[in-house]
Amino acid sequence: MKFYLKAIINFSKDLEGIDIGKILKDSKEILEKGAPKGKGAKIISWKVENNILLIEIESSKWVRPHDGLFRLKNFLSDKLGKKYKVGVRGTSGSLYMITLTLPKEPKEEVTIPFVREIKFKGKKCTLILENLDEEFLRKNYIDRIISLVEEKVNNQYYRGKEEFHEVMWQSKPRKHFFDKDPSQEMEKRNWVKHRGRGQWIFGPIATKIMKTFESIVYDELLKPLGFQEVIIPKAVTWDVWTKSGHAKNLYPEIYYICPPKTRNKEEWENIIDFYKITNEVPIDAIKENIKSPIGGMSYAQCPPLWPYFQNKVIADESLPIKVFDRSGTSMRYESGGIHGIERVDEFHRIEIVWIDYHEGVTKIRDEIVECYKKIFNDILELEWRMSWVTPWFMSQEGLTGLAEKDKNKRDVGTIDFESFLPYSKSWLEFQNVSNNGDKYPKGFGVKSQTGKQLYSGCSGVGLERWLVTFIAQKGMEPKNWPSKFKERIGELPKEIKFL
Ligand code: ATP
Ligand code: ZN
Ligand code: MG
Repeated sequence: MKFYLKAIINFSKDLEGIDIGKILKDSKEILEKGAPKGKGAKIISWKVENNILLIEIESSKWVRPHDGLFRLKNFLSDKLGKKYKVGVRGTSGSLYMITLTLPKEPKEEVTIPFVREIKFKGKKCTLILENLDEEFLRKNYIDRIISLVEEKVNNQYYRGKEEFHEVMWQSKPRKHFFDKDPSQEMEKRNWVKHRGRGQWIFGPIATKIMKTFESIVYDELLKPLGFQEVIIPKAVTWDVWTKSGHAKNLYPEIYYICPPKTRNKEEWENIIDFYKITNEVPIDAIKENIKSPIGGMSYAQCPPLWPYFQNKVIADESLPIKVFDRSGTSMRYESGGIHGIERVDEFHRIEIVWIDYHEGVTKIRDEIVECYKKIFNDILELEWRMSWVTPWFMSQEGLTGLAEKDKNKRDVGTIDFESFLPYSKSWLEFQNVSNNGDKYPKGFGVKSQTGKQLYSGCSGVGLERWLVTFIAQKGMEPKNWPSKFKERIGELPKEIKFL
């Protein structure tokens, strides 16, 4: 790696009569600090113009030139302040050039913010940046730019690769009582009603089925395993997604939340009046009157729980933490992918979260899987399977294809639960369960009493997907439903008829 920076340092006064050359020579030691001898940042040229020092700095892998620049700034401030009463003002870079060797040869061009030009020659890559302010240099954007180039080139090799997926367990085949698309058939009989894009209203019958699923999960899993209910916010602010990792990649799927610029009625008067006259909501004028997004609607459901634990030390007596949330919907912009109630933009999930030491988290995950098995085999009598897949928290950061391929080491990661849909002869992910490793405790600074690393797990029970699964396999006639389920749901509400 080779770095070159052309920069200026501004001073409060003219530097005439000061032997800058001597002072710069004396700075050699500080420019080498932390590097093997002779390997630090080096000044390769300098020139004084009135109150400005123009300087060129070079380095290899030790001491970035911008670090060198700030060391130099402090050094000069010290040397010139006392003796000459000259203050150091700002600094900036006019040209930054970085030459590095990539692990893989790029297949196509990449673009990176802040970078004016990227040149590739085989694995060799040259980055050219211009007009960089002090903040840019100080915040070490350079290193993150280098990582991003490597990441993007790496992704060119991954792109198009499917997520990792391997079936680990499969139920016995079951008799199917239905071969139609559940969403369409339920809509025909007013069990559900499509509303706008990817949003559904669930009528009394569909709701009773979903609520029965919920109570089965409560009776057969949450209660016996000792999970307590919590209420997690559904509006998620950026600070949460920065810590959970979602801020790296989530943008195309977010439903954004924008507060008004003001709640002063006068400033909304135009909009109010416009509507009264035209009966149309003036969307463009509203756009002008709202702030930038403060975040988005709940996506993965568990991240906005974590600020509860943020920067806390959890007492051993409170472990394992076992909670669940069913207090509202998640939203995702699924765009063209929406299909019936299988893939919707607004959906309902029970989210189950647990925190413990490593072994504890894995053990609870396994206990949860056992409860699910009982529910799907004995109560709902489903045809279903479990697959080992790319962990959800990785796929949501845009990392595909990754999962522990060694069967004996399948500890941290995600199991998808998939059901067979007779009408489309395909498998649908209807829920998952994960050991999320140390990701969340690390991201949110959550510590244990003993100092040993905490882990966490979560499982998202998608109620729309359960409903599709159940109706797709068992149909809409209760006489064909499994007896244990029928016992639980009792009498169905009457269908609502429209004339
Ligand atoms: P898919 O691969 O089907 O898009 P996903 O991998 O995006 O699912 P996760 O992020 O793992 O799903 O979310 C966990 C659970 O949330 C899923 O198993 C499913 O039950 C539910 N879910 C996710 N997206 C939707 C959606 N658009 N509509 C309905 N349920 C959903
Ligand atoms: Zn989760
Ligand atoms: Mg998805």
